Amino acid sequence: MAADGFTPPPLGAPADARVAAAFAALAFTPEVEAETAGAWEKVKGVVTPLEWRLHAPLIAAINRLKVEKNAVILAHNYMTPEIFHGVGDYVGDSLGLAREAARSDAAVIVQAGVHFMAETSKVLCPDKTVLIPDLRAGCSLASSITGADVRLIKQRYPGIPVVTYVNTTAEVKAETDICCTSANAVQVVEWAAAQWGVDRVILIPDEYLARNVARQTEVKIIAWQGRCEVHERFTAADIAEIRASWPGAEILAHPECPTEVIEAADFAGSTAAMNDYVLTRKPKQVVLITECSMADNVAGDAPDTEFVRPCNLCPHMKRISLENIYETLLTGRYEVSVPAEVSERARLAVQRMIDLPPPRVPARYDLVKARHHVDVELI
Ligand code: SF4
Repeated sequence: MAADGFTPPPLGAPADARVAAAFAALAFTPEVEAETAGAWEKVKGVVTPLEWRLHAPLIAAINRLKVEKNAVILAHNYMTPEIFHGVGDYVGDSLGLAREAARSDAAVIVQAGVHFMAETSKVLCPDKTVLIPDLRAGCSLASSITGADVRLIKQRYPGIPVVTYVNTTAEVKAETDICCTSANAVQVVEWAAAQWGVDRVILIPDEYLARNVARQTEVKIIAWQGRCEVHERFTAADIAEIRASWPGAEILAHPECPTEVIEAADFAGSTAAMNDYVLTRKPKQVVLITECSMADNVAGDAPDTEFVRPCNLCPHMKRISLENIYETLLTGRYEVSVPAEVSERARLAVQRMIDLPPPRVPARYDLVKARHHVDVELI
């Protein structure tokens, strides 16, 4: 057995044959049904019994394999419900998953999310094996900017701190002063301005997050023109249509949405803040203006709330499936690595963020402030 707990295929037997045999052995038995009963209770509002007969054997096999390999699965809020409720050991937003990665004592981390998240886990846990089930799980924000871009920005704005959204590559994080997520961006921007003794901060790469943060703080924001391809598609006209069709629904929007959407919503916050809103306020009817799986996952814990579902799918998040998570645990592919020199500098930026006191409740965007126009300087 290899040092990381993965058994190489026997000589002459390709890994694919072993994988095919493991998949062929999966069956929906009474034992599997019993083992997965808890997860079924959470997802039965959004998954059909027929689909469950396919998901449950994979869920049971993945959960057994995790124990064998000393592995944990970090599952983002945008994973499908069978992943989120079936095999996720830690579930949440980027900030929560980064904290869990740092705390985990498992030998192997499987990132049920996109590539930048797996890189963040590797940066925080350089001695662990970090696996991602599909290397193509990217992100439009992460691919909007490179380390070379950040070096040029720093030349143009000497002495101004660079705050980087976690939705970036390790190479970009390595060039920056501190990371943030949508849950703590305002807090981090104000911290950076105070530490550097300046009134301006560079906040990259999400233009809309930067514009929404600018409306929450006295600190002036310099922004990059990256966009999340899921959230940029929502418009104020969509919100008006939702209000006309479902007049009683409370509308919650993610701060990666355009400012006009945030202004028109009833509440704005990170996925953790939306989750907290639904679970504590228990609205009768709610619309989550974000990635589609978010509503399906919160619904498992909010049986009294009706979820209206105009939403957009993230094609990158949807590359992760139970099938490729199982295959990853069987084969050990695909392992994520970050060059040591990049990793050390990126860790500093991520760790600075983690070391800030966590918000008492997930930070929400003040919509009264959000309606006052405050511009950003675009790079
Ligand atoms: S939802 Fe947007 S920010 Fe999140 S991974 Fe997909 S493209 Fe990137």
